[in-house]
Amino acid sequence: ARGPEDSTLDSEEHSGSSISELRYLFQWLHKSLPYILILCIKLTMQHIIGISLGIGLLTTFMYANKSIVNQVFLRERCSKLQCAWVLIFLTGSSLLLYYTFHPQSLYYSLIFLKPTVDFTNFWEVLWIVGITDFILKFLFMGFKCFILLVPSFMMSFKSKGYWYMLLEEFCQYYRSFIPIPVWFRYLIGYREMDNILGWSLGVLLGLLYFILKLLSFFGHLRNFRQVLRIFCTRPHYGVTASKRQCSEADDICSICQAEFQKPILLICQHIFCEECISLWFNRERTCPLCRTVISDHINKWKDGATSMHLQIY
Ligand SMILES: [Zn+2]
Ligand SMILES: [Zn+2]
Repeated sequence: ARGPEDSTLDSEEHSGSSISELRYLFQWLHKSLPYILILCIKLTMQHIIGISLGIGLLTTFMYANKSIVNQVFLRERCSKLQCAWVLIFLTGSSLLLYYTFHPQSLYYSLIFLKPTVDFTNFWEVLWIVGITDFILKFLFMGFKCFILLVPSFMMSFKSKGYWYMLLEEFCQYYRSFIPIPVWFRYLIGYREMDNILGWSLGVLLGLLYFILKLLSFFGHLRNFRQVLRIFCTRPHYGVTASKRQCSEADDICSICQAEFQKPILLICQHIFCEECISLWFNRERTCPLCRTVISDHINKWKDGATSMHLQIY
């Protein structure tokens, strides 16, 4: 038997406009919402450990990331105690996680080895890729804490900035390799279609994945080589400006609006404090006044930050 609701839906469908189709979809969603909610709650209950673990990892990451950026920003006034605490906190949480899931030997996937995981289960594969990505971030954040703890007479703040940048770029590069063996095993694995068709489809998908990854690596590699070059050469963006050149610019830095500190003359003849302009080039590649391209690479990550990006594929 057809209810009055169905007949109105039908007549709307026949009108053929995309708006009525959209309304139909909305009505369907409206009617099925309670059922979707019930299913969502059931799913959440089934994966409660995974979900709470994910939230825990995310908050740990955000807390540590914010602390490290703060400490890097404070320079001489950075608290060694806080850095040591973040280091201990990150080590502790990583060790606790690996201890809890010891039987699965998840740490194997940190170095491309095969962990004891059911590779036909999509959620399990996704879970291990996510955890490994977070732990690798924690590891490299730990290295950044180590650098923060190095006394300033052994390593200048400027040189520390380059180290943070190198560490972060290397971390991102390494993290893009890590999921390959896991996803590859998942893609070429087959169980339901235990025949030649299932096998060849798996191989085809694995191959496609591999080609896509290979293409993205060349892009990443170029960027990483650029960062390595900057790390080794520590390029200067200009030359030290003379007293006369400074007074011609009214002795005022247009970034900080104060008297020049270690003035630097860029190729476009604009003068800024060394500190101000190097902070500027952490975000931009051009002169702040005339937009002449000065640097060929944005020195992101010199502030000690770690990328939020979750490398799951
Ligand atoms: Zn300045
Ligand atoms: Zn300029």
